[in-house]
Amino acid sequence: DVKPTLLDLQQFSVFYGEVEAVHQVHLTVGEGEIVTVIGPNGAGKTTLLSAAMGLLPSQGVLTLAGERIERPTVEAMVARGVALVPEKRELFGEMSVEDNLLLGGFSRWRKGLKDQKQRMDEVFDIFPRLKERRAQLSATLSGGERQMLAIGRALMARPRLLMLDEPSLGLAPLIVREVLQVVSSLRDLGVSVLLVEQNARAALQVADRAYVLEMGAVALSGAAADLLHDRRIIDTYLGLG
Ligand code: ATP
Repeated sequence: DVKPTLLDLQQFSVFYGEVEAVHQVHLTVGEGEIVTVIGPNGAGKTTLLSAAMGLLPSQGVLTLAGERIERPTVEAMVARGVALVPEKRELFGEMSVEDNLLLGGFSRWRKGLKDQKQRMDEVFDIFPRLKERRAQLSATLSGGERQMLAIGRALMARPRLLMLDEPSLGLAPLIVREVLQVVSSLRDLGVSVLLVEQNARAALQVADRAYVLEMGAVALSGAAADLLHDRRIIDTYLGLG
């Protein structure tokens, strides 16, 4: 049951000046797979995701659906169906839920408003709460609703790979569960997910596979279900849960 590889990072390194924040990472995401990267503060998770999206220069080899992308740029990644939901969510607070969603589909605007409405209906099917609040200013949403809106906005472009940077940040445990349950349902829509999380337990519960990043390097990787029972993972990352 081996899935075709969608994203493939090999010897992937990222430097800030002389400092190597990500060191020779090998990571793959298969079609329809949910892969998580967990690890402590400052391990390089955000840096890895940003570089994989083309927001930061990287070294090594990035391959998407078999196509090697030389010097990945955001444009190149977006054009190939990759979307990133950054940690800060970056919503337009003074705009309605609906308008924030329409902006997410902007790069496909030429396909017409009808297509946009259809995508929005799909997003509303995934997040019924957003539908109820479609006219509300996004600044007035709860933390969980804002995260749902950020994910929904990224889905407006119908990505095949969705990269999420700490979607659980600042959310209450119950809401974390709700958001991550939606993330796991994206698989059924044919969206693959690369999920960066500090909340290791929640992430391992929804992911198929996981990588543990420590000081910029992969310290451990494997099936998420196995890592949930790994003594070292339990002691280091799950102890407080
Ligand atoms: P967190 O969960 O706290 O965001 P992280 O695992 O995402 O942690 P990164 O934010 O990727 O870690 O940071 C990795 C390392 O790179 C850290 O040592 C950090 O100080 C450093 N770093 C991050 N951004 C920059 C930057 N713009 N310039 C220089 N160093 C940076």
